[in-house]
Amino acid sequence: MTQPSPTRVMPLLQVAHIVHGCRTLGPGSRTVLWVRGCSRRCTGCIAAPILDDGPVLAITPEELVARIQDTEDEGITISGGEPFEQAEALAPIARALRSAGRSVMIYSGHVYADLVGSQAPAVAALLEEADLLVDGPFDQTRQADLLWRGSSNQRIHVLSHRYQCLAGDLDGPGVGVEIRLDDQGRLLWAGVPPVGFVSSLRRTAEVRGLVLSASGGVWA
Ligand code: SF4
Repeated sequence: MTQPSPTRVMPLLQVAHIVHGCRTLGPGSRTVLWVRGCSRRCTGCIAAPILDDGPVLAITPEELVARIQDTEDEGITISGGEPFEQAEALAPIARALRSAGRSVMIYSGHVYADLVGSQAPAVAALLEEADLLVDGPFDQTRQADLLWRGSSNQRIHVLSHRYQCLAGDLDGPGVGVEIRLDDQGRLLWAGVPPVGFVSSLRRTAEVRGLVLSASGGVWA
């Protein structure tokens, strides 16, 4: 497993998409942040369209915190892409939100032991703010219907007291995918999709004369 190194911790905040009020990527109602960029290339990665450079939202960390504070979401889920490659930018955002009583859940392609062993201060700073961590890359050969995860190698780590009540209740099935229109009229999905979901949705749309051009979890 490749450990996140200081040279791979980018200072800039590169956000591909944000959605509020999501109930499929963590406990309760959450704001989900998909950061752009991941140096891995796992086969079957559902975030493939946002692994490289591309369009990002014009939003500062301060604006992002304020925007989330304006919602009734109990916390933020940071997905991607690889959040720990942007740990320097994300750690103060996560800290500010937790100080304001919101929770933080993070998805990472790195396993927990490698994050703990990282020599990068920003990685430690971001990990320190995580209430929940879903670790490990998506493994297409171990795809499974699991709570908040796409493959059986991935683990949910309860890292703070906040969600200790969930600790014995994390082995359930997946909770599906939310589909909605965003404020720009684009179709957006959020969640861990079952096998064949994306191709099936695309075929269904095409039968009805719609062409979906994927950009992460958003189709324009
Ligand atoms: S680590 Fe995660 S986001 Fe990165 S390519 Fe693999 S599955 Fe995709």
